[in-house]
Amino acid sequence: MHKNPIIIANWKMNGLKAEGLEIIRALGNYARDQKNISEIVICPPFTLLFPIAAALGDLKLGGQDCSAYEKGAHTGDISAMMLKDAGCSHVILGHSERRQGHNEQNEMVREKSSRALEAGLTAIVCVGETLEERKQARALEVIGEQILHSLPKISSPANVIIAYEPVWSIGTGLVPKDSDIAEVAEFIARIAKGVRIIYGGSVKSGNAAEILKLNHIAGLLVGGASLDAGEFWRIINSANIHA
Ligand code: PEP
Repeated sequence: MHKNPIIIANWKMNGLKAEGLEIIRALGNYARDQKNISEIVICPPFTLLFPIAAALGDLKLGGQDCSAYEKGAHTGDISAMMLKDAGCSHVILGHSERRQGHNEQNEMVREKSSRALEAGLTAIVCVGETLEERKQARALEVIGEQILHSLPKISSPANVIIAYEPVWSIGTGLVPKDSDIAEVAEFIARIAKGVRIIYGGSVKSGNAAEILKLNHIAGLLVGGASLDAGEFWRIINSANIHA
């Protein structure tokens, strides 16, 4: 088990202000009753960044995406500096829902990651294979390509986290075998030396501890289960109990 695992909540396009603040309030109450050893990052929708920043306590804040550009005529986009200004320390980039739903290619993810690092944010760069690619035994090849082309040149272990998120596992309840996660984590550790590697894809309180015990896994990226404060706190506790 990594000494200080990072547990990241990706709320995606969920949560109005009252609901988001309620989750933060509940997490704050749990945290008061019990010391925890994890670094916790909450990535809410953009509209909730400011109200949540004001209620964060010991939690950290992250964006779910940022623009590939610094500023200017890009209607609807949010820059990395704007995230920093709203109180963010992290930003998720290259999530498969953006790679697929918004046709984001590796090169664009690299530009976004570069803007994130320039703004002083930690880039959480997501990589992962589709089910078809896994069936074709191409998972490592695809992940290798994604890492080679979507990490910024100036990246370092201090400002980049790689999230291994098999596309077929996100929101489906399907989780790869431990040995498959470990194989990918080992591969990533070899080509991105020193960079923290985390796992995401249908993480729940029932499987978090087992995944956190795998070699090279330094944290978790949690989607659906992070919208339930009790369940998310149990996931955070998996890191505490087994530390
Ligand atoms: C995610 O969206 O990054 C994710 C891991 O989602 P879920 O936990 O719901 O599979």
